[in-house]
Amino acid sequence: MAQTINAGATPIPDFDAIIIGAGMSGLYQLYRLREQGLRIRVFEAGTEVGGTWYWNRYPGARFDSESYSYGYSFSQELLQEWEWSEHFAGQPETLRYLNHVADKFDLRRDIQFRSRVTAAVYAEDTRSWTITLEDGAQHSTRFLITAIGPLSTPTLPRIEGRDDFKGASFHTARWPKAPVDFSGKRVAVIGTGATGVQTIQTIAGQVGHLTVFQRTPNWCAPLHNGKIDAETQAKIKASYPDMFARCKETFACFLHTPDPRGAFEVSDEEREAFYEKLYAERGFGIWQGNFKDILIDRKANATISEFVARKIRQRVKNQAVAEKLIPRNHGFGTRRLPLETFYYEVYNQDNVELVDINETPIERITPDGIRTSDREYIFDIIIYATGFDAITGSFDKIDFRGVGGARLTDKWKRGPETYLGIMVHEFPNMLMLMGPHTALGNIPRSIEYSVDWVTGLILFAMEKRLTRLEATPEGVKFWTDHVKALGEGLLSNEVNSWMTGINSNVEGKQTRIVARYSGSAPAYRARCDEVAAKGYAELRLG
Ligand code: NAP
Repeated sequence: MAQTINAGATPIPDFDAIIIGAGMSGLYQLYRLREQGLRIRVFEAGTEVGGTWYWNRYPGARFDSESYSYGYSFSQELLQEWEWSEHFAGQPETLRYLNHVADKFDLRRDIQFRSRVTAAVYAEDTRSWTITLEDGAQHSTRFLITAIGPLSTPTLPRIEGRDDFKGASFHTARWPKAPVDFSGKRVAVIGTGATGVQTIQTIAGQVGHLTVFQRTPNWCAPLHNGKIDAETQAKIKASYPDMFARCKETFACFLHTPDPRGAFEVSDEEREAFYEKLYAERGFGIWQGNFKDILIDRKANATISEFVARKIRQRVKNQAVAEKLIPRNHGFGTRRLPLETFYYEVYNQDNVELVDINETPIERITPDGIRTSDREYIFDIIIYATGFDAITGSFDKIDFRGVGGARLTDKWKRGPETYLGIMVHEFPNMLMLMGPHTALGNIPRSIEYSVDWVTGLILFAMEKRLTRLEATPEGVKFWTDHVKALGEGLLSNEVNSWMTGINSNVEGKQTRIVARYSGSAPAYRARCDEVAAKGYAELRLG
């Protein structure tokens, strides 16, 4: 049954809701709103669904949350019919999964691919948004939902001569669809974040020679991936309700959650044994399931940093190389932890070289390769694993104009200001999924919550015949101050990373900001639930 959100405001917009992006958020939001009979259109820049899992098809891209805790939980049928082949599925499998979801729920008929949104303008007289696509086409909507992802605007390094290179070069998040043949090739990788680590460990065995240009080493821990056998598969399927219930209770929606003990509440031997156990276990346990104080207490953090440094020294044969791989400017887990599979052992291979660009900075890209202060390196392929203009970057790329033409980029010049990470004052009817100031963590779990909350708000508007929903300045100030306060005392907020809004390759992103919610996911949900339970009275409703 088709119904329309209008309540007398004219003219009727083309759609009840436009969703920007057909990644995990956009797909589920489309499913939920269409279920209500609303007129929805998704605009997606790519040629397929999948978002992050569509764009990031670089070699070795895979989950580092457990596959079964990552999939959608909203459909029992989907949960029971889909079989993850590995504890941490690779990107091709995840993309297949998302395509399966799109097919199963017949989502594609409301998605327009190859359609990049360049502008979105609010009109007060019609209480609607008009979006403009790259080709100039325009569409209007009552509600505008951004599902554009926190890590979806890749950034290339600002190094002179980048366009001069005669060989092939790729950013990991813009990887070609056709396979890249590495055999016998001289390959450079710039960047050693989670993406660089996965790429390096995957291609090191395929290339002729690999040179890794490292600016900042990251603390990495073993992923311990493995195939899922039939017996385990059956257990996983039977335990989905328990598993999702657990993800609802944990700090960041992972299966792991902090140990209630402090690092110094146990003996040295117990602490060491605990770290050994965590290092030998699958996934993020060593980061998310560690002592409760390692991410807030410098001394506690030093104990796990020293432990992992010892592991690196044991695994890397050349001790000079091992020392270069040990981070000095931040403690373990204060940046997003890359999980690895024999990453450190790669540096024991004869065909792999690590270049510390703090010692010998890159001067320029040349037609044949990369010149550092030391020498020129000759390459056939350069891989840029240089990350993203995170969290706010994808918002900056769209010209969002709110009431009276207010620009979102101006409003957020000194950092994002939001209400619950979902709404912005002067941007009525715009609802953000996984925008700044929301709980991220194990992201599909956060996505499902936020989509359900946004759906609830839109249904409320329909029921009450409301056509204008806006965050108040007081509400935004309260939430923004709250998010900043939550970040105080966290060691991660004293470190440069995408999580603190730093990107050396983007003008104006050299100052740390609080762009993400760092409290617990249950506390976040409790706050949002309370707002809904009180009839959204904190919003300006009209
Ligand atoms: P990233 O963590 O921001 O790492 C970018 C890397 O490039 C860093 O090593 C950085 O060095 C380096 N770099 C940037 N500009 C440079 C320049 N001009 N010269 C030299 N080096 C430069 O980005 P990412 O690795 O793509 O990961 C981003 C996030 O995506 C991760 O933290 C994670 O949340 C997500 N991710 C998830 C998965 C997964 O779930 N499996 C996999 C991959 C990524 P500095 O550190 O010195 O800036």
